[in-house]
Amino acid sequence: MTEKMGRGIVAAKDIPVGTLLMASRGVGVYQDEVGNKETGFVINYKDHVAFDHGSVKMVALTNQDIKNTPVISKKLAALYYGEHDAADLSNFSVTEADLDNPPPLLSADRIRSIVKFNSFSDDGSPKRHGIWPLPSLANHDCFPNSTRFCIGEMMFIHSATAIKAGQEIFLGYVPLDAPYPDRKKTLDAFSIPKCQCRLCDLDRQESQEGFAERARLSEHMNANYSKYIRNFDPTITPKMVEHIQAMKNTYKDPNRPLPIALFHPITGLGLLHQAESNEKALKTYLECLAILGWKSFDASELKRTPANSKIANQTTTKFQIKCPEFPLFYAGIDLFFHVADHASKLGYTLLARKSIALSHLCANIFEGVSSQEQAIIQKAKRLDPHLLSFKDTIEFI
Ligand SMILES: [Zn+2]
Repeated sequence: MTEKMGRGIVAAKDIPVGTLLMASRGVGVYQDEVGNKETGFVINYKDHVAFDHGSVKMVALTNQDIKNTPVISKKLAALYYGEHDAADLSNFSVTEADLDNPPPLLSADRIRSIVKFNSFSDDGSPKRHGIWPLPSLANHDCFPNSTRFCIGEMMFIHSATAIKAGQEIFLGYVPLDAPYPDRKKTLDAFSIPKCQCRLCDLDRQESQEGFAERARLSEHMNANYSKYIRNFDPTITPKMVEHIQAMKNTYKDPNRPLPIALFHPITGLGLLHQAESNEKALKTYLECLAILGWKSFDASELKRTPANSKIANQTTTKFQIKCPEFPLFYAGIDLFFHVADHASKLGYTLLARKSIALSHLCANIFEGVSSQEQAIIQKAKRLDPHLLSFKDTIEFI
């Protein structure tokens, strides 16, 4: 039991960033068919419907899984289904005795409710949906301190920051970059009436007019500027600078932390700057990182490294970085890559090395991609091969 959220998962000891916390086999798992949008379920935060195609399918598959492996119902019975406060979790693990004496089957209504409150989707494409019993016990935070990805039916959860003993472990039930009204709608459907996270606290102080204007501006950008950004066409750059300023003005305090609505426009500006100026592109990507709460790089990183220095040639380093105020985020895979690319071109080797190590860490914990696999992808994107020859790692202190 946790102080604020009721039932949840709490760290029993200090956990470094990037640690594998759980591996859980899914129940009722299915994957969207390519090109078929009908099966979108809970992760479809805009049009949440309690029992759509996806949930019906998941209920049927869950039933099938229980019939094939009856002990599964012991774990499922411990999950929240809307009508009890807290089941006894001391019984959560399956023992040998359970195999000889399987627990009673669950009613169809109970399974439907378990699916409603506990199903997850991954971030893959096409998406995979299912119930992963142990991760289901983690409460929600819009900026969660742990990450999830699936390989087959297995879900893997890693720490996205340094977590101290006694701190609760959170997962995100909604996309971090979704606007507050959309996040709220989905969380309401999960019976979470008031998310206690820092981002929601900040967003609740904003005005309805601000949300509406941000939505209007986002649509305008998608309709008018996105195709230029996709083509790296800088003729749109002045318009994008104006757009970003207009977006900033929708916030009551333009300097508040986590103005997430600026993330996509500023990323777009970074792409437009790429062909023109490494300095401008680097500055813009650092601004993107700051929007996502990453302020562990400062001006001291922006200095050139002499070619004969230790840092330009030393093989492997464990970089210690001050633990950021907010956890790592999915977009870090690309953002840290861009920072590394432009920092490297400008001769800021130390910044480039730290950034590429962070990009690899993000790829590892958000997608399950190893550093070696990530290096192959980044080599194909023409990142300096010398930068990829380092085998650096990151520690948050
Ligand atoms: Zn929240």
